[in-house]
Amino acid sequence: MQHFPIFLAIAGRRVIVSGGGEAALAKLRLLLKTEARLCVFASAPAPDIRLWAAEGRLTLTERALAPGDAVSAALFYAANEDEAEDARVTRLAQAEGALTNWVDNLAQSQFITPAIVDRDPVTVAIGTEGAAPVLARAIKADLEARLPAHLGPLARIGKTFRKAVEALPMGRARRDFWSDYYFKTGPEHIVSEGKGIVERGLKTLLADHLSRRAAPGRVALVGAGPGDPELLTLKARRALDEADVVIYDRLVAPEILDLARREAKMIHAGKEGFGPSMSQSDICRLITDHAARGAYVVRLKSGDPTVYGRLDEEIDALEAAGLAWSVIPGITAASAAAAGIGQSLTKRGRNSALRFLTGHDVKGFAEHDWRGLARAGEVAAIYMAKKGARFLQGRLLMHGASADTPVTVVENASRAGGRTLATTLARLPVDIDSAALTGPAILLYGLSPRAAEAALPLLQKDHA
Ligand code: SAH
Repeated sequence: MQHFPIFLAIAGRRVIVSGGGEAALAKLRLLLKTEARLCVFASAPAPDIRLWAAEGRLTLTERALAPGDAVSAALFYAANEDEAEDARVTRLAQAEGALTNWVDNLAQSQFITPAIVDRDPVTVAIGTEGAAPVLARAIKADLEARLPAHLGPLARIGKTFRKAVEALPMGRARRDFWSDYYFKTGPEHIVSEGKGIVERGLKTLLADHLSRRAAPGRVALVGAGPGDPELLTLKARRALDEADVVIYDRLVAPEILDLARREAKMIHAGKEGFGPSMSQSDICRLITDHAARGAYVVRLKSGDPTVYGRLDEEIDALEAAGLAWSVIPGITAASAAAAGIGQSLTKRGRNSALRFLTGHDVKGFAEHDWRGLARAGEVAAIYMAKKGARFLQGRLLMHGASADTPVTVVENASRAGGRTLATTLARLPVDIDSAALTGPAILLYGLSPRAAEAALPLLQKDHA
């Protein structure tokens, strides 16, 4: 950022414009919206400038700028549209301590004027550091269309109410009040009946909010998907937008955490499947404590919360505490991995059933229906299997599985650094060891990547 945007306190301070033609007029039209004391120095001022001077909206001196004119000015515009003259007045004004802008000369300007969307007291300043004025104008036009004209008056009336609203408890109660005011009650009243009604309406609205019993908290158990933020559901997005507290697992991608409401309290619960971390009962207590105090808690889990997500323990704790909860599903790692290798998880004539397995559980390596899995054509998505690969292989071979059964390991499905390892049951443990996987990985037993079905490369970059 070569230019730092700020809002300068300008009311009652001197702003000088040197020049009386088109460039000066354009700047003056903007500056006239401010409460600054405008002074124009021009030997041949345009008629509009004379008119504004006659109306008392600016002070006009009908000569070129001279030494001493810019003393104690806050801002100075060189708008003579004459290079030598603009250079001269800029030097002068700088020497006298004003911040200077040479109109249409970025390199010689100490500050630049942004494109402005004016809904006073709400102002939006758009700058492109001179790189793309067309873009700035397009953004301005877009915002002009989107921000209702009554936004300014509403904000001004709202400002006079800030003190009164402190009667509401901090946090959600106040946010709910302001959101009601700016997006519902305020616009309705101002459009139909004008400012007096808005003020009376605000009083009624505040009384209404004050009389509401402190709303009890609620909890959404939300699936964050496999990692790519674009694979979040719209519901998950909205929950993150509204959350007071986000309690997230280790596997939730940082890009997704960035989407949470800026004021939300972010708590890392550190869990990864059955791995070591904060104890499950501590996590349950954390969730119920925050919700009991009235917060909207988003419990964010990687993938789908109903798949190896210890969901039931948390729901039981919420039920026991009498708190409202809901589950927002997400895309599970198996779906993302299958999409990544271009295979479907079920296929007519190959497998009509699909199993979700875990490589290990709380008690260690997990036992499964090995005989059933060993049959030709079976497909399973095996979570948390990195460490248990040799155990899996041993059990499956022992129960008659073919050593050639394809297995695809997908590491970091849908994330940056995604890798696909196409192997067979015979080579699985050795290949997994030499691949030195560091990210979360899932095994697709019975599937090989569509692209690699003919010749199996050992390790390939994901085609994503
Ligand atoms: N609820 C999650 C699973 C949690 S268990 C889901 O539905 O996906 C954690 C295991 O999920 C990891 O050990 C790994 O096997 C798998 N996993 C999660 N995200 C993954 C990803 N992006 N790529 C590959 N495997 C992933």
